[in-house]
Amino acid sequence: MNHPRSPEGLPALQRWLTSARFSALPARGASHPAPLLSFEFFPPRTEALEAQLWHCIRRLEPLAPRFVSVTYGAGGSTQARTHATVSRIVSDTTLTPAAHLTCVGATRAEVDAVARGYWEAGVRHIVALRGDVPGGGAYVPHPDGYAYAADLVAGLRRVADFEISVAAYPETHVAALSPGADLDNLKRKLDAGATRAITTFFFETETFLRFLDRALAAGITAPIVPGILPVSNFAQAVRMSEMNGTSVPDWLGHMFEGTDEDPEIRRMVAAIVAAEQVRLLQANGIDEFHFYTLNRAELTYAIAHILGVRPAHRPGAAAAG
Ligand SMILES: Cc1cc2nc3c(=O)[nH]c(=O)nc-3n(C[C@H](O)[C@H](O)[C@H](O)COP(=O)(O)OP(=O)(O)OC[C@H]3O[C@@H](n4cnc5c(N)ncnc54)[C@H](O)[C@@H]3O)c2cc1C
Repeated sequence: MNHPRSPEGLPALQRWLTSARFSALPARGASHPAPLLSFEFFPPRTEALEAQLWHCIRRLEPLAPRFVSVTYGAGGSTQARTHATVSRIVSDTTLTPAAHLTCVGATRAEVDAVARGYWEAGVRHIVALRGDVPGGGAYVPHPDGYAYAADLVAGLRRVADFEISVAAYPETHVAALSPGADLDNLKRKLDAGATRAITTFFFETETFLRFLDRALAAGITAPIVPGILPVSNFAQAVRMSEMNGTSVPDWLGHMFEGTDEDPEIRRMVAAIVAAEQVRLLQANGIDEFHFYTLNRAELTYAIAHILGVRPAHRPGAAAAG
């Protein structure tokens, strides 16, 4: 019998028998209950996008996420739209909203007024961020503004008793002096009163797990929730990654290679890539996920399903969270 030989010269059978193995990935069960989820949306610019957002919200609502968050455009450019979207989530849905708020281009008094408006509208959770300069360029704090997210967290705590989440960067924020300085900054945000960090997206499980190790070593004990970007459009994911310093592994490009003209296969590949990522994290004990939905429900819904989350209203199905 002929043994097929690997490049290293080992017969394939011997290689299979002696190389590293993974046991099966977990499915929902006693040792792996359904994780807690949160979903992120952006405020729509047009009526068509508004309809798309609300289709997405309605589709994901039965999954009973812990909260859903709505972004705040660069430099506060979506202030009114973010407020309108969050207020409608409060009044028209069973969901718990979190409003993103940034420091850029506004005085402390202006930011405080926006936060008070949220509190009065029934919003109790803020994702507190520094934000970026609209159109790019070096960040310069507003002379009368909150300079960094840690200052904003402290300011929000003076406005009202908000639950506050902040941003974290497994591959280090692009403008940080060093990974250590960036972790010190994360700790400052938590010490100032935030209770949870949500990471920017990443593609390698190892990247996130090593970040957790470093955060723990830096004395951080608050939950750090992985931000998951379900990739449905590889070119768009590469552009977004360039902006926030996320590494795009070669394998991800290979996964989507040749699928540009084949949407059905691309959707299948997208679901498998995202499912592998979250299940590997789940297998490593991660039980909370934040999804960057890009206002599209299907991929996020499918991944949530794979993670064991089922609609809360279905008879016999337990709600996630
Ligand atoms: C989950 C999540 C949600 C987001 N939502 C939005 C959104 O809705 N709208 C939006 O515009 N952007 C959003 N962003 C992007 C975010 O605004 C940018 O990444 C921004 O560049 C940094 O924001 P931050 O809150 O992390 O800033 P900070 O925590 O303030 O940190 C910014 C940088 O400054 C450094 N730094 C902090 N303090 C100091 C100091 N005292 N002196 C010197 N350097 C310091 C930090 O190390 C870091 O490099 C989001 C990011 C994430 C991860």
